[in-house]
Amino acid sequence: MTFEELGLSDPLLKAVKVAGYDTPTEIQIEAIPRILDGKDILGCAQTGTGKTAAFAMPTIQRLLKTSLRPPRGGKNKSRRGIVHELRCLVLAPTRELAGQISENFREYSHFTRLRQTVIFGGVGPKPQIQRLQRGVDILVATPGRLLDLHGKGHLELDQVQTLIIDEADMLFDMGFIKDLERIVNLTPPKRQTLLFSATIPEEVQQQAAQWLRNPYSIEITPEAIPIELINQKIYFIERDEKDQMLIQYLCSTPRGRTMVFVRTRLDADRVGRNLNKVGLTAVSIHGEKAQAKRKRAITDFKSDEPPILVATDVAARGLDISKVSHVINYAVPEFPEIYIHRVGRTGRAGAKGEAITLCSSDERYHLGRIEELVDMKLPTSQWPFEDFPDLPHLEKAYHRKKTGHDPRRKQRWEKRSTGKHGGNSESKGRKPKKKRKSRGKAITQKDIQANKRG
Ligand code: AMP
Repeated sequence: MTFEELGLSDPLLKAVKVAGYDTPTEIQIEAIPRILDGKDILGCAQTGTGKTAAFAMPTIQRLLKTSLRPPRGGKNKSRRGIVHELRCLVLAPTRELAGQISENFREYSHFTRLRQTVIFGGVGPKPQIQRLQRGVDILVATPGRLLDLHGKGHLELDQVQTLIIDEADMLFDMGFIKDLERIVNLTPPKRQTLLFSATIPEEVQQQAAQWLRNPYSIEITPEAIPIELINQKIYFIERDEKDQMLIQYLCSTPRGRTMVFVRTRLDADRVGRNLNKVGLTAVSIHGEKAQAKRKRAITDFKSDEPPILVATDVAARGLDISKVSHVINYAVPEFPEIYIHRVGRTGRAGAKGEAITLCSSDERYHLGRIEELVDMKLPTSQWPFEDFPDLPHLEKAYHRKKTGHDPRRKQRWEKRSTGKHGGNSESKGRKPKKKRKSRGKAITQKDIQANKRG
């Protein structure tokens, strides 16, 4: 099957050529002709399957059919006399994903006059508002910022012809369901709706039944993990040992691009900080990080000298990052599909990769579910802690954590209580504490005279 055979027109075929795609992927073969026919799509597919091109290319082609209609009262008209009205809305859960989808739309619509932009929270709205005012045909957005700018009258959704909801399960997980309902209701009922999700849980299914009309369902089963290419290993290790083991592993393993997946934002920051403390360059990304910092972290990670990327799933999901040599699951993912997704970031395009998982006793249940899904027992291993005596301050931190006791603090306390330092702060060269002025006691005449004499 070729892209020509899928019914794509010249501007799209040129873009395919520039992108360097030889043959369409499975989801593109399934989706492109149906979307061109105007059908709604319910797609169960993960990142890496080529799904963005699968929905973006035919959507662009359909927009081209109506983009050159005469302007209505000159509104949103560009200098060339073309009307730019918001006719395609793409919703994505995270800023990174929205940015990436927008990049893809830009790439695929390069040989057209369509305009597109992206809006998301965490950055000032002014440049986004200015771009919207100049008129766009395609808008990629995260739900919060979209509703915000809609509420302030900076955009209208009544001309939307195609509504695309990407990573729907994640949008639901992140609590965007009410926002999504509001947005869908703001678009015309007569529209084409394309909904893509890595998994289709019950609630996505229910909403899809309301939002989509007689959809064509596509299910791209996650690629099996290429066992021969990815060396998977499980280390049974308790939570309080994970930090130290991670550092020892990273220090002792020849690595290329390395991703560490953690569960929470706090973990991302803490683990990133710990790695930097021992001289391993690391950057962390999570949903709370400022957009500029996240962008820089990803750019650095894609560079030739990548730092270790410590990421939550939310921040990393959908990011198209290739050539990852090592994936480390600092926490066992709660959903087995996510394990496949994380591990699948390595061992791509014939390259070898290593995926290790640090599993504490309370995470064994999740590991069992992963093994069920991948239909194999994952090999386990022990970590030889004593082989790494040269990380003194980590050893201490580890000791403190394990025993709940800090030898340095104990020494300080002993010195004070034996009076070696006199026990007061002045003898240690610290600034003495300011004595609080007594308040509330009235100054008497006697006090004033005593003061004068003194
Ligand atoms: P996606 O699943 O949309 O995140 O796409 C993952 C990666 O596959 C992106 O880097 C795309 O540029 C790339 N891609 C999409 N379609 C094709 C294709 N037909 N052939 C080769 N690469 C593709």
